[in-house]
Amino acid sequence: MDRIDFRSDTVSWPTPAMREAMAQAKVGDDVYGEDPTVRELEALAAEMTGKEAALFVASGTMGNLVGILAHAGRGDEAIVGADAHTYLYEAGGMATLGGIFPHVLPTDETGRMDVTAVETAVSPDDAHFPRTRLILVENSYGSKGGYPLPPDYFASIRTVADRHGLAVHMDGARLFNAAVAQNIPAADITQHVDSVTFCLSKGLCAPVGSVLCGSQRFIDRAHRMRKVVGGGMRQAGILASAGLVALHEMVERLADDHQRAQALAQGLAQIPGIIVQPDSVKTNMVFFSMGDEIGMTAEDVAAALQQQANVWVGPNSLKGFRAVTHYWIGDREVEIFLTALREILAEA
Ligand SMILES: *Cc1c(COP(=O)(O)O)cnc(C)c1O
Repeated sequence: MDRIDFRSDTVSWPTPAMREAMAQAKVGDDVYGEDPTVRELEALAAEMTGKEAALFVASGTMGNLVGILAHAGRGDEAIVGADAHTYLYEAGGMATLGGIFPHVLPTDETGRMDVTAVETAVSPDDAHFPRTRLILVENSYGSKGGYPLPPDYFASIRTVADRHGLAVHMDGARLFNAAVAQNIPAADITQHVDSVTFCLSKGLCAPVGSVLCGSQRFIDRAHRMRKVVGGGMRQAGILASAGLVALHEMVERLADDHQRAQALAQGLAQIPGIIVQPDSVKTNMVFFSMGDEIGMTAEDVAAALQQQANVWVGPNSLKGFRAVTHYWIGDREVEIFLTALREILAEA
């Protein structure tokens, strides 16, 4: 890459192996169901998540949206965490396009909704209330430092869902980070949900795309919804080929990103004026901030890092930052970042 970019794992460029695979990819018209590379990717994604079928989509947002639209409709209600990506950061798609009413619950410091609160939130069969249809969960949990939630949480959500005949959809944008961090197969997590979306374009490094997985009947409905939102793609094998490299070659190495995030957090903890909790770093995200003794804002510091060291990092509050590790962040890049930050703060 042309910069040292900690702003997100979405900034990661495709790997050389991906560019090679894209150049060689077998293609067909995927709207006709004739792209062999898309089919291969969908089959592999279904297998890795323990589901019957899968659907290649343009983005994580699209995967969540068409998944939600395949589970629920106008006047239905979805129970969702107040800081979940599907609630906060997807332009209100479920309501905008689906007429689906979000029933928002708080989450704890790891992104869990209280399971009893979830059960209490299910509407009784009464004309005053929307019909509860769906529970939305997320893993790893982006708004809680990328926390990798364990299978037993989803098992308890599943129990509530089954008691009330509800579907469970997982926004697993970083599902494989959650799995690798716990040293378990992704399917151990996804066995408890009806459907899951995961991103190929974050830590897995593909240039574009996500996959929605679930039962064949569910995927048939989602396929129609993908068409509704204009998401049918033609020779999409060019993109899916990079996704295949992502699933074959890039999953296990996410452990390296987690180690480097931990090393980064420990390095930050040594810098005077930086506040960080290395213990809370479980996957590839590090949240940190500056004490009041530092006279610069996070924006000032981010600008100085860019100018002095070509290091890009995202301010996320007046004094706070988020840094994310990925394939293009090696040990050297972590060192450069720490050295530059130390120098900038020493002068602040
Ligand atoms: C990135 C992300 C998404 C959506 O992905 P896009 O591909 O950017 O649409 C959904 N959920 C979470 C938790 C994410 O981090």
